[in-house]
Amino acid sequence: MKRICVYLGSNPGNRPEYRQAAVALGRELAERGIGVVYGGSSVGLMGRLADAALEAGGEVVGVIPELLVQKEIAHEGLTDIHVVTSMHQRKKRMADLSDGFIALPGGIGTLEEFFEVLTWNQLGYHAKPCGLLDVNGYYKCMADHFDRMVDEGFLMSEHRSMVLTSDTPADLLDKFAAYEPPVVEKWIERKKGL
Ligand code: AMP
Repeated sequence: MKRICVYLGSNPGNRPEYRQAAVALGRELAERGIGVVYGGSSVGLMGRLADAALEAGGEVVGVIPELLVQKEIAHEGLTDIHVVTSMHQRKKRMADLSDGFIALPGGIGTLEEFFEVLTWNQLGYHAKPCGLLDVNGYYKCMADHFDRMVDEGFLMSEHRSMVLTSDTPADLLDKFAAYEPPVVEKWIERKKGL
């Protein structure tokens, strides 16, 4: 894996564990020689991840829309920064540059971006690993909800298992390295022959 895209809060969150996890993931990626692709901001967990990866000698590529350059306070020390014209272009560019996708704790933006690449994965537009770094049980409710989607017939268990999850960066990255994409058709009705 050459680069992994990381989605995470533009806020720091209320617990030190979130910052510690962003730093730990940044370092772990750099130590494994894997570049970071992220939203290009210097604030919140986003900034902590970028600083940690850069300090550890890693490559960090930011992708940020013009409109957000000021608002999100673009990071000035990155290996490379792509200033794009729209959010859609940002998300596409981040996906194209990356060989896998990780969500750390974050808000609506983090989830929206992560869910988009998960959807693309489910439809077969890419076969790159997607995972959650579940710091302090932040994503437990979401994991439970994925299980509910399967129980209620809205998500295939094969697609459910595409969401790799761990509470440590090293273990999550080991799962990414061992990932084999499932070969499965998305449509539940067609699979059942209904
Ligand atoms: P948040 O998790 O809301 O703190 O946002 C994290 C990142 O997602 C930031 O870089 C935001 O620019 C981005 N973001 C915020 N809202 C959206 C959205 N509606 N769609 C895509 N990305 C967003």
